[in-house]
Amino acid sequence: MAARSITYITGSQLLSLKRLPNIAIVDVRDDERSYDGHIAGSLHFASDTFRDKIPSLIQAANGKDTLVFHCALSQVRGPKCARRLAEYLAESKDDAGIKNIMVLERGFNGWEASGRPVCRCTEVFCKGHTEQAQQ
Ligand SMILES: [Zn+2]
Repeated sequence: MAARSITYITGSQLLSLKRLPNIAIVDVRDDERSYDGHIAGSLHFASDTFRDKIPSLIQAANGKDTLVFHCALSQVRGPKCARRLAEYLAESKDDAGIKNIMVLERGFNGWEASGRPVCRCTEVFCKGHTEQAQQ
């Protein structure tokens, strides 16, 4: 199976889609997540250990067919981790039900700069519970 292509999604597209149950947002920033907050409901898989954690990502994203990656700007780490996942799925026989691999344009910084909801909980797998307070 050839590695699938990675597409980009804008913040406003993601905001309108992210309540759908089939989407997982994957934050691959490293330490910044703990200082700067994160997109409500996102999963955290730091880029420096990403390759080793792909199996746990697939497990955490069980039931999701669309994974949206981002880092601070989505220029280096986000696209790189998205490609690593695409390569991993291409090499394994099971695509884990993942149909779309996307990267959030402008990353977390662009998301926050546009005034979109930011959560400051400390959970690795954010449940998005503070989202309403921000809107
Ligand atoms: Zn949170």
